[in-house]
Amino acid sequence: MLHLSSPAEAKEWCASQRRQNQTIGFVPTMGALHRGHLSLLNRARQENTTCCVSIFINPLQFEDGQDFDAYPRNLDTDLSLLADNGCDMVFEGTLEQFFPEIDPKDSIPLIPAGHFGKGLEEEFRPGHLDGVRTIVDRLFKVVGESKAYFGEKDFQQTLVVSDLARAIGYPEVIVCPTVREVSGLALSSRNSLLKAEQASEVTQIYQALLAAKKFWQQGERDPETLRCAMNDILEASTLVIEYAAIRDPENWSASPPYGHLTQAQALIAARMGSVRLIDNMRLDNETP
Ligand code: AMP
Repeated sequence: MLHLSSPAEAKEWCASQRRQNQTIGFVPTMGALHRGHLSLLNRARQENTTCCVSIFINPLQFEDGQDFDAYPRNLDTDLSLLADNGCDMVFEGTLEQFFPEIDPKDSIPLIPAGHFGKGLEEEFRPGHLDGVRTIVDRLFKVVGESKAYFGEKDFQQTLVVSDLARAIGYPEVIVCPTVREVSGLALSSRNSLLKAEQASEVTQIYQALLAAKKFWQQGERDPETLRCAMNDILEASTLVIEYAAIRDPENWSASPPYGHLTQAQALIAARMGSVRLIDNMRLDNETP
């Protein structure tokens, strides 16, 4: 596996792969890799002739410096996991390298996340999805024409980056299912920050999503009733709820949809101590 330390080298490598008629699968990450990330890599490997991963903890998407400092970092383990899982190239970079045209003394102008950045995450992490769109725009321009793999766990993020890809004309964005612990807890780099006694309590997020799914399967279509089903479970836990919300996944809206839904996504963000967790579930399909 090739390990490149700048976006410029990565851009050159990707261009040379395309000249050799290779198709590129790309997985952007912030490191501290787990089976969720590796599921994206495995899918990228299956669907392309070569694949690459970026590891960059993007300061532009952290509103809180403490959260940025606390974010888990594990480069050596990440590199061996990637090599063992068939990654062809991994690249890193500094903020200055990603934005060489900006004087390091100046702040980097953010690209607004757009329509899909409205509501939910925006309310609780203002500017976060702007920071995501800004760095993913750069990452897409480094890698170029490719397929890019994102996890459904970050549902609103998948909408924003799909919108970005439509706007710039590439890559093809592939959204992959959320990988979970046996308990149902969605894998996340932040899970390593949980204390042992918190680990069972945070599974209530999954239980709340399942409760909404069960109501849906019993014929409930009112977004407010579905929301209450999740809220009841979360309120009985020690989690601090940021949002438990229902949205129409095909017609994103900042505020809750009205009336009888024909499709629905249940989305939750909650805090356990200083650790923020998000998860979501499509209600109108077969899989739990
Ligand atoms: P991150 O390193 O947290 O920025 O995540 C990098 C990519 O991995 C994003 O597209 C995430 O949505 C995806 N991802 C994170 N956790 C999971 C998971 N449990 N299952 C599937 N994909 C995930």
